Amino acid sequence: MRAAVITALNSAWEFQDLPDPQPGHGQVVVRIKACGMCFSDVLVHRGHWPVELPIVPGHEPVGEVVALGPGCSTLRVGDRVGVAWMQRGEGRCVHCQSWHPVACEHTQTWMNLGGGYADLMLAWESGCTLLPDGLGYTDAAVAFCAGFTSMSGLRNADPRPGERVCVLGVGGLGHMAVQLAAAVGLETVVLTTSPDKAEYAKELGAAEGIVVSGDPGKALADAGGADVVLATTTSADLVAQVVSGLRYGGRLVTMGVTGPLRVEDMMTLLFKQCSIKGSTHNNRSDLVEVLNLMAAGKVRPRVETYPFSEINDVLKRVEAGQVRYRAVLQPD
Ligand SMILES: [Zn+2]
Ligand SMILES: [Zn+2]
Repeated sequence: MRAAVITALNSAWEFQDLPDPQPGHGQVVVRIKACGMCFSDVLVHRGHWPVELPIVPGHEPVGEVVALGPGCSTLRVGDRVGVAWMQRGEGRCVHCQSWHPVACEHTQTWMNLGGGYADLMLAWESGCTLLPDGLGYTDAAVAFCAGFTSMSGLRNADPRPGERVCVLGVGGLGHMAVQLAAAVGLETVVLTTSPDKAEYAKELGAAEGIVVSGDPGKALADAGGADVVLATTTSADLVAQVVSGLRYGGRLVTMGVTGPLRVEDMMTLLFKQCSIKGSTHNNRSDLVEVLNLMAAGKVRPRVETYPFSEINDVLKRVEAGQVRYRAVLQPD
């Protein structure tokens, strides 16, 4: 099979011919139809993630099951599936025993078996999620990281009917978060530094797009504040400042910051009794919810599609923040 391989950090990914994967016990082989690219791929490329090289990246893959290893009991050859980042736990810890393997310290991911920028991908059967009928591959791919992350962020904020949600940052995650919050009936506003994205957010279902030039917390407070902020930006400064825009009992959920978060507005945090929570892929039901909202036509990712052969150019576009709003690669 042909695959894109990271052989050295901060260097162009190499195309290589690798042996076709053979499924072991409980594993399947997926013929890849599409695989989205995420800022985490840039972080892997830069070495922020502890991966052993060489490795095939790609953690937003979807495709068709073409082979089943011994012991597989739910999937069938021909099934349309996607594979999330965390595929299974080791099975015996308290999290696995509670049916919550994403919290397991020994999860199996694309880093163990190889990712989706390849003709074929090996995956654990238990890590595959069926795609609803009628949902196209390029849209479905986006559910497996951007959609899953955004929906878990929203569910982690535990929004109640009538609450107001603010999405901070409109990129791959943010453009999904806006649509998901609006699709479940919540008034949703957007904070962005880009006037064109503020305008576009309304097409995604936002009631208002707020352009920020200075302090995002003040801009949000001036616009009425929010009960929930879904922070999808990688800027720790913007996330720390947006605290001032929280209403009483507000929850700030951050999904994109990897550096230190230094909150200065402790008065809002204390006296409005707000909380800050980190979030990533959580319950698998969040992913299924996204897929079903997509299949129902209530949420539609905005994708740029590229052939695998252009993967290094796509990586540069993602790194430079030029993608509107998710880049999805497909085998040539
Ligand atoms: Zn991702
Ligand atoms: Zn475990």
